Parts: sequence; structure tokens; C-alpha cells
Amino acid sequence: MAIAKSILDLVGNTPMVYLDRLRASVNKGKGARVAAKLEMFNPGSSVKDRIGLPMIRAGEKAGLLKPGGTIVEPTSGNTGLGLAMAASLLGYRMVCAVPDKIPKEKQDLLKAYGAELIVCPTSVDADDPRSYYKQAERLRDEEGAYLPYQYYNAANPTAHYKTTGPEIWEQTGGKVTHFVAGMGTGGTISGTGKFLHEASNGRRKPAGRVQVVGVDTVGSVYTNFHKTGKFPKDTHQYLIDGIGEDFMPTTVWWDEIDAVQQVSDEDAFLMQAKLAREEALFSGSSAGAAVHAALKVAKGLPSTALVVTLLPDIGDRYLSKFNIEWMEAKGLTKAPSYLRKMSKRGA
Ligand code: PMP
Repeated sequence: MAIAKSILDLVGNTPMVYLDRLRASVNKGKGARVAAKLEMFNPGSSVKDRIGLPMIRAGEKAGLLKPGGTIVEPTSGNTGLGLAMAASLLGYRMVCAVPDKIPKEKQDLLKAYGAELIVCPTSVDADDPRSYYKQAERLRDEEGAYLPYQYYNAANPTAHYKTTGPEIWEQTGGKVTHFVAGMGTGGTISGTGKFLHEASNGRRKPAGRVQVVGVDTVGSVYTNFHKTGKFPKDTHQYLIDGIGEDFMPTTVWWDEIDAVQQVSDEDAFLMQAKLAREEALFSGSSAGAAVHAALKVAKGLPSTALVVTLLPDIGDRYLSKFNIEWMEAKGLTKAPSYLRKMSKRGA
């Protein structure tokens, strides 16, 4: 590998690994294999590094961002980090509006890369002036800051169309049959899904066209919207970080999403723990949700199919949540009892 000109040149081209140990323990070796794309190998340790620079370039092109200008983004952390890395190399000021539910590690990380933070209450509606969305909009309106707005910026899904999709197609030698990934802004699933749909269009059976499965939380709007075209009445808070929404971003390209699977906090945190202990892959709870859904999809498929999922980020930034005390305080039982069983076995 040649020496890079800057860290931004090292974004993407992340490795993939088979989750064969989980296939054995969870699916009893049945069904299709599952391969995971490891986005923690990006320089900022998340999938969101892929969209930082493209969204900044889109702002420059549209004349919304002038030399030395300010960028503001509502973010649960990872996008802020991807933007902050690119902003500091390009000489922009970066401000992140974050919900107060994001762990302290993520807040400190954003500061380490030079971002300024506005910490906002999680427990208010998206259109409440105190929400992290509205706080970011305020800076745009009052101070002329550039708001990339990952939820409405086509550069977000397009980055995945240009990078994540082609990488998966090439790494699987065109053998991928299913793509299962979490839906936050929907950028990852939409852009990657569009590329994989196009690449596999007209492919002969049994593989056929790639099936794209979005992963949603219980309490979010996506599952119901996909099923009925309507917003559910019972949206509520959940513990999984980075996926699910209480509004509809334009970065969700529904034409590219064939199915949506809903995963509970219990199942996501349990799978996050299983990934750490059985595959030695320490990622966030959204990865737990994605892998839970991917294994479920894979179980019902022939062994010739190949399910690809994506682990969005690294577990280190959730350490204050990855412990039995925190999980039990939040009412989780499956992950704590699994972790207890595993530590007794190891003792
Ligand atoms: N997992 C984590 C940890 C994230 O931060 C995000 C982005 N919010 C996602 C998954 C979902 O990615 P996307 O926004 O591309 O749907």
C-alpha cells in the first residue's frame, strides 16, 4: 500500500470477514453464510467517514461553504467525527449538535478532533426548538453556517453508491445475494442497495437480484412506514445507538429497500455481546441489531446464498454502556445473563 497524502485518502476499502462462529452457535450451522463488512477499519472507526468529505465538497460546490467557514451538523457522533476530520484538514470550524443520550466517549472523541459541541435533550420531539436538529438549523439560520444535513443530503447515499456497494460486489466476487444493514439516515442501505441492485440486475437464478434488507429499531417509524406507507402512532425511545428515526429523511431511497426487519433492544445488545465474545469483533449496538437480522435472514436460505451485513463502528466508544450494570439499569436481561454465563465459563 502506497503512502497516503492525507488520512482522508484512507477512508473506505474496509475488510470483510465471515461470521462462521455465530452461524454455528446461533443458526446451528444451518442456512447461508454471513459475511460482515468491518467499518471500524476506517480512520475515524466508523462507516460515516465515507460521507464526511463528500458532504463538505457538496457544500463548497453549492456555494454554501466559503474558505474558513463553519460547518454544523446534528449527529449522534459518527457523522460529526467524519466531518470533523475532513473539516480540520480543510480549515473549517466544526460544530456538532448532539443528543445527550450519546455516550461521553463519543462527546470527548468529537472534541479530540477539534469539534465544538452543543449538547441537546434527547427526550424532546424532532421539531422542538431544543432538539439537536433544530439547534443545528438555528446556527445555520443565525450564523450562516453550512449544514450538510446528512438526513437530506444526497451526497450521503451517493457516497455509499460509489464506494460501499462496489467494494462489497468486488469482495464477494459478485456472489452476494442479500445485503442487511441498519437504517439511521438510510444512507448506507440506500446507496449500497442501489449499487448492488444494479450490479445484480438480470442475474440468473438461484442467486437472482440482491435482496436489500433494512434493519430498524422497535419504536422507530421505518418498519411501519415500509409496511403501510404510514407513520406509526406509537414511536418511542429505544437504547440502540445510530439506527431508527422518528421522522422520514429523504436519504431513505425506498425503491432500493426490499424488506425491513425490526430488532429489539434486548436482541441487539445480546448480539453485540455475542459478536465481542464469539467473533472477537467489538462493535456498537447497531451492529448487534444488523447481525441479529442478518442471521435470521440467513437461517432460512440455502447454503449457496451469501448474506452480507455491515458493522458500522467500533465498540470502544460505547464502553460506558457495554457492562452488566448499565444494561441491567436500563432493564435489559438477555445480554447481562449471557455475559454472566460467559465469564463464569471463563473463570
Ligand atoms: N450505526 C451507527 C452507530 C450509526 O452512527 C449510524 C448512522 N446514524 C448507522 C448505524 C446507520 O447508518 P445510516 O445513517 O447510513 O443509515
